[in-house]
Amino acid sequence: MARPAAQPRVLVVEDEEALSLLLRYNLEASGYQTEIVARGDEAEERLRDDVPDLLVLDWMLPGVSGLELCRRLRLRTQTASLPIIMLTARGEEHERVRGLGVGADDYVVKPFSMPELVARVGALLRRADPGRGARKLIRGDLTLDRETMRVYRGDEDVRLGPTEFRLLEHLMGQAGRVFTRAQLIDQIWGRESEIDERTVDVHMGRLRKALGNGTTETRDPIRTVRGAGYSFDETYGRGAA
Ligand code: CA
Repeated sequence: MARPAAQPRVLVVEDEEALSLLLRYNLEASGYQTEIVARGDEAEERLRDDVPDLLVLDWMLPGVSGLELCRRLRLRTQTASLPIIMLTARGEEHERVRGLGVGADDYVVKPFSMPELVARVGALLRRADPGRGARKLIRGDLTLDRETMRVYRGDEDVRLGPTEFRLLEHLMGQAGRVFTRAQLIDQIWGRESEIDERTVDVHMGRLRKALGNGTTETRDPIRTVRGAGYSFDETYGRGAA
């Protein structure tokens, strides 16, 4: 059997074995080729010979710290633009600014949910290389085609307005991640827009209605998270409805 071409390669640098195994399991289940290294100095060595598509880098590591390694990687041409997600413990949250300052692209605080981490890996890879196999987002019976801007549920064409399309693309692209209404306003309409949170609900209602039209499928792929916001249900399409 041929493997799908160009599976993205992720290097995980994490010294907590239980966590690194869990990361590998979840990343591989999502189609990423995953390698683990437990020390910062070993990771540096490894990255000299071979640069993956993305690095998941723990902050506190034996050998060289994640922070220092990140800084060094940014100075080398081969790794200057390598997508890096930093992991850090809760107490170090205030260090975030430093983490981003040395060039990490994203930053996740432990303990985090695996679907969220996997979603962020996907989002960062798409940002790094928008062309990479990302023309279509497929989840269960839902297909979103970015190029033609069309959405299908099974064989049925789902008619969406441009705002609903962007909302769905945004949620589906990071399935499982919860977005607040304020985040959605920033990300879909832009920070400068003057629309209020109620408008987000109106468009979300239209999106749900359009997705439900003309199908016998009753399951709603969009989740309303009380007191938080909206999310695309990451279990959607995994059988067990
Ligand atoms: Ca650690």
